[in-house]
Amino acid sequence: MTSKDGYSWTKAQGLRAGVPSIGVIEPPSNVKSADTVYDVIVVGAGYCGLTAARDASLAGLKVLLLEARDRIGGRSWSSNIEGYPYEMGGTWVFWGQANVWREIARYGMQDELEISYDFSRGINKYLLSSPQGTQTFTHEEEDALMQSSLAKLVNVDGCLGKTVVPFPHSGVLTPEARKYDHMSVADRLAEIKNDLTPNERLCAESFVLLCSGGTLETTSFYEFLHWWALSGYSYEGCIDYLVKYKFRGGQSSFAINFFKEALASGNLTYAFNSPVATIQHGGNGVQITTRAGQTYKSTKMICAIPLNVLNDVAFDPPLAPGRKAAATTGHVNQCVKVHAEISDRDLRSFTGISYPHNGLIYGFGDGETPAGNTHVVAFGGQHNHFHPEENLEHTKAAFQGFAPMNIERLVFHNWSKDEFAKGAWFFPAPGLLSTHLKDMRARESNIVFACSDWALGWRSFIDGAIEEGTRAAITVRADFAGRAKL
Ligand code: FAD
Repeated sequence: MTSKDGYSWTKAQGLRAGVPSIGVIEPPSNVKSADTVYDVIVVGAGYCGLTAARDASLAGLKVLLLEARDRIGGRSWSSNIEGYPYEMGGTWVFWGQANVWREIARYGMQDELEISYDFSRGINKYLLSSPQGTQTFTHEEEDALMQSSLAKLVNVDGCLGKTVVPFPHSGVLTPEARKYDHMSVADRLAEIKNDLTPNERLCAESFVLLCSGGTLETTSFYEFLHWWALSGYSYEGCIDYLVKYKFRGGQSSFAINFFKEALASGNLTYAFNSPVATIQHGGNGVQITTRAGQTYKSTKMICAIPLNVLNDVAFDPPLAPGRKAAATTGHVNQCVKVHAEISDRDLRSFTGISYPHNGLIYGFGDGETPAGNTHVVAFGGQHNHFHPEENLEHTKAAFQGFAPMNIERLVFHNWSKDEFAKGAWFFPAPGLLSTHLKDMRARESNIVFACSDWALGWRSFIDGAIEEGTRAAITVRADFAGRAKL
């Protein structure tokens, strides 16, 4: 099936909107009666909504899952082009992420992971490109440079940040954590400007921007420290957790299991292509109306809509002021993630940074396509932001910013222009978490708000989405506790 989401380009076919994915659901709806009053309506079929819908339906609740798109997965989904999965959004997972690994084990997918890197080909180098030219390093030298630059960045306490974020899965921001949350990475870099070598500075800045998709000024220093803590306070940990292990069959091969299990319970009704326009809620339950005018009713609701688009839905009564303010501020991540299939086989082994001048900042060989070509993935963000589909020559030039390459195909999803995301993974500007983390997590009457964007642990990751979906289902089940069938 082909989703309306995503783009691909080849010389022969030009630019095409929509790419094939096993995450597209057919038929798009199994709603039988418009009059049913559901126990719970889950809005959003990303990993959070899928987890919540599955757990609630397995617990015996009558669940309706409403999703704006034609597919599951939200910000994590894979296209399947000529038998090869390109990850359009969320990609890498790691066994240190407890929620994600619990689900991988549940679906027996422990042996379906592969490593993105393959350091066995010709150009087995780290390419550090700046306006001054390109320097080459071994991957061991790359690791040493990255570790030394990031260690200087995070070492606010002589303990590599361990005393600032001692419990990375806690929702409590200590006074010290709040201090660093009000600080941007640009502020922190100003503090250590005399300690960094020019190469360390390039590495630190580009790595932070890879994580935040914002600018140095809009990136909360605390949230970077939080990622660092989650990753075991080391650069090696960052690689293991953030960019190394992915599903051989793509993210949609994982997500589809959640949906199938929920469906098999016999308690799941669903409707895709159903953007929600208004949500009325109060003592009597919840009434939800889609843009097409279809109305659905339930006792409870789980709202799994991302922060940056929450204000696009009309709530009656309106959202609580703190949540509304958080959604108005939004998160800053405008990551540009683009895949290129290239005929240069030796580039399978490269990793590279091209900064601060280039459109794409960080790239590396990510796989080999069935045609034997190299698959390169590259990331940009708010820094030098661009929309790949609007200027393909610029996009291709941004790949050449790492090394000369012969581009056969481009594949991407424009998350900035996606009306149901308006950005990539959550990354906060200074102050957002200190001011609004609690507000984002609070429930309002019969609505539980759940999303990776305000998870406590791996916030902004697939693991955080599953953490939140689990919490939401437990909360709603508790509301129904005492009902005979639960
Ligand atoms: P979403 O996936 O955004 O789900 C929300 C759902 O709500 C969507 O399906 C959306 O269509 C739907 N929706 C929105 N508005 C409405 C409406 N009005 N009516 C009905 N439905 C609506 N995480 C990792 O762990 N590893 C990675 O490598 C990684 N890389 C990433 C790379 C990119 C480019 C992106 C974008 C994300 C990445 N992430 C990664 C983050 C991860 O993808 C997300 O944190 C996670 O998928 C979010 O899940 P969610 O269910 O909370 O939200």
